[in-house]
Parts: sequence; structure tokens; C-alpha cells
Amino acid sequence: MTKKSRGLLPGLFIITLAYFALGFVSILFANLAILCMALPFILLSRAKKKVWCQRYCPRASYLNQIGKKHNRKNNPRIITSGKARYYMLWYFGLNLLFITGSTTQIAMGNMEAMPYIRLFIAIPLVPLPQVLQVAVPPFLLHLSYRLYSMMLSTTILASILALIYRPRIWCAICPIGTLSGKALSWMKE
Ligand code: SF4
Repeated sequence: MTKKSRGLLPGLFIITLAYFALGFVSILFANLAILCMALPFILLSRAKKKVWCQRYCPRASYLNQIGKKHNRKNNPRIITSGKARYYMLWYFGLNLLFITGSTTQIAMGNMEAMPYIRLFIAIPLVPLPQVLQVAVPPFLLHLSYRLYSMMLSTTILASILALIYRPRIWCAICPIGTLSGKALSWMKE
């Protein structure tokens, strides 16, 4: 008997919505993004396959939800050619570099924290209203806002792509998907 292929677990999109909603409760919840980035690789190292992408990714579930009722346009050349995947990888790498660099500088007292949302590294917005006012060191506040901003920026981009093209077109350029694909091929070598 052939093994039945299993898709994403139902209802995972709620985790994506909850992540952004929790930012209004306390921006410190934004640090859960670190877990979201680590889990795909932890599962990959155990299962030797992209279990996260196949079964557990809340963002993929969210994109399926928002993109399912829309007409499809042909995928743009920048995505089919693979260029966008590498641009996104650079964007992700630079973002992580800026986040760790600025957080370290703030912890050392060399820089002011940026306690507000900033989209796509360059577009400053506002701080989020907070239900819980927790006193934390400036570097932690900064780190939380930077992670929230990165997650929000990529979710906005992924949502626009899902509405124009197909729901999970983001997966073709997702840095986590790209890096887990590379890690998998290294494991199989
Ligand atoms: S490629 Fe990215 S968005 Fe798509 S399922 Fe994998 S981790 Fe989730």
C-alpha cells in the first residue's frame, strides 16, 4: 500500500495571526520568531526531510487561507528564474546581521534603541500600543521590535504575492525554505 501524503495540519494559520496580535499584548512575544526560525531546522535534522514546510508551517497555512479565493496570474519571471530567491536570502541575511549588530551595540551602550516598527529595514512606523507594560532593558525592547518588523515585512510581501499569484508562491522565495533545502541536500551528500 502506498503511503498517503499528508499536508499541513489544519488551523495553523491561527498561530500567525496570534503572533501579530500578541505584539499588542507585549512586544516581547515577538521573540517567539527565534523559535519559528529554529524549529524548521531542528525538525529537519531529526526527520531528514522538510517536515516543517510539509506539515507545520503557520505562514504557509495563513497564505493558503488568504489566497484561496483569488484569480491567478502567471508567476512573474523574477520568481520563476530563481533570482528573487537569492534577493530574499540576501535581505534575510542582512536583516539578521543588522538585528544582531544593532542589538549588541545597544547592549554595550553605544546606540539608542529603536522601539518602533520599521518595515523592510527602511520604513519607520510607530510603536505598538501595549496591554502589558513590562520594564525591560533597551536592547531587548529593540530586539523584539526588530524581529516583529522582520516578520511583519515578510508577511506583508507574502500576502501581496498570495493575493496576486497563487497562495504559496512565497514558498518559492522563502529564506527558511531555501536554507532548509540547502541543509537537506548537504545532509544527503
Ligand atoms: S518555504 Fe517558508 S513559508 Fe513555505 S512552508 Fe517552508 S518555511 Fe513555511
